[in-house]
Amino acid sequence: MDAKDLAKRVAIITGGTRGIGAAIARRFKEGGYAVAAVYHNNAAAADAFSRETGIPVYKWDVADFDACQEGVSRVAKDLGGPVEILVNNAGITRDAMLHKMTPAQWCEVIATDLTSCFNMCRAVIGAMRNRGLGRIVNISSINGQKGQRGQTNYAAAKAGVIGFTKALALETASKGITVNAVAPGYIATDMVGAMSKDVLATIEGQIPVGRLGEADEVARIVQFLASEEATFITGSTITANGGQYMA
Ligand code: NDP
Repeated sequence: MDAKDLAKRVAIITGGTRGIGAAIARRFKEGGYAVAAVYHNNAAAADAFSRETGIPVYKWDVADFDACQEGVSRVAKDLGGPVEILVNNAGITRDAMLHKMTPAQWCEVIATDLTSCFNMCRAVIGAMRNRGLGRIVNISSINGQKGQRGQTNYAAAKAGVIGFTKALALETASKGITVNAVAPGYIATDMVGAMSKDVLATIEGQIPVGRLGEADEVARIVQFLASEEATFITGSTITANGGQYMA
């Protein structure tokens, strides 16, 4: 594939303006893709990211089905091609023990972390099937694999992402589309920075490599799964957690 063809390849990274998503967006830009980074509320962070990287940013709520369909159409028009790579990375936490968890905390996490995968995949899958080409990577979590106190909502959503990935991989395997998940352990981003220092210190003590992961250590896996090197990998979940949990 020559550089001209590469330039037409469009990648959407949801939650692509901060943390893990920003590292993924940078990697794809460096790889020659036309990248769109989606954010929701933090316009200041998104603008700063866009200024620094030259990556266009788009504001919509991945929990909103119609917004995803409109957003994907807009990106395809702006960037000059159908979406070839979709990384469903946007996610939130709303932690509480179940006996105190509100319906709003439950629903917001399920909608943002799981229903978003349906909303976004639904928006890109028709064009991918028609072209016979597509790469989808969904970001799950160690806590969807092993559970975590205070995170019934998040663990359910992230475990759901793995089941969703397997089912969609089966549906699309014969269509030139791969669908995989990455389950990171604890990665040094704003999401983890929001945890209490005591809890974080306990968690760091449970990571055999003795440190938090870096966002780019997840980004490199995503880049590989979306590459020509990974054409026979579909329906898989790659874990990257410093040995904290061996699924
Ligand atoms: P951050 O909190 O650092 O960044 C989250 C990104 O998602 C931001 O760009 C945010 O936009 C965007 N986002 C959140 N909600 C929405 C929404 N409704 N619509 C569109 N965009 C949205 O998260 P991380 O980088 O830490 O996490 C990225 C993913 O990795 C998440 O799915 C998370 O669950 C998962 N993960 C993270 C781990 C970690 O240790 N950090 C471990 C395991 C999994 P805005 O800036 O506007 O808020």
